[in-house]
Amino acid sequence: HGIAGTNQERTFLAVKPDGVQRGLVGDIIARFEKRGYKLVGLKLVWPTLEMAQNHYADLSKKPFYPGLCKFFSSGPIVCMCWEGKDIINQGRQMLGETQPLASKPGSIRGDFSIDLGRNICHGSDSPEAAAHELAMWFPEGVNDWAKTVDAWVYE
Ligand code: ADP
Ligand code: MG
Repeated sequence: HGIAGTNQERTFLAVKPDGVQRGLVGDIIARFEKRGYKLVGLKLVWPTLEMAQNHYADLSKKPFYPGLCKFFSSGPIVCMCWEGKDIINQGRQMLGETQPLASKPGSIRGDFSIDLGRNICHGSDSPEAAAHELAMWFPEGVNDWAKTVDAWVYE
């Protein structure tokens, strides 16, 4: 599980503070559930500034980094681990473009956002980033519930 390129590929997706505050958590989760992806990790976390800085460390030279980290630690985020075929790339497709105005309707950012700094959601952009970010946000690990499915339908 978690191996990129398999049906058990995993990625880290998050609803940022703006998405949580605007009540978009359920809609975002529903999109991935309905498509057929499997939710194997889920929790609400209020990141410290240090956690935000670590999460976005690769952007530390960018002029918008301080504001980004301040915003990312300004309220709770929803941390998710999603599993399924091509989820790293498909997750990014379902999020939309970084710039909301370039995001197609039907994508999360294209449906719910306008401003670059308030684009609702985060998604790992590569297998390396997914492994790194999942280790950072889910150090306790995630859940593998594939074998429990029948138990909800049949006694
Ligand atoms: P993505 O979230 O699509 O992976 P990046 O990793 O490049 O995008 O940037 C992280 C976040 O930083 C973006 O989602 C966006 O909210 C913010 N951001 C990116 N570029 C800018 C910019 N030029 N000005 C302000 N905020 C930005
Ligand atoms: Mg990114």
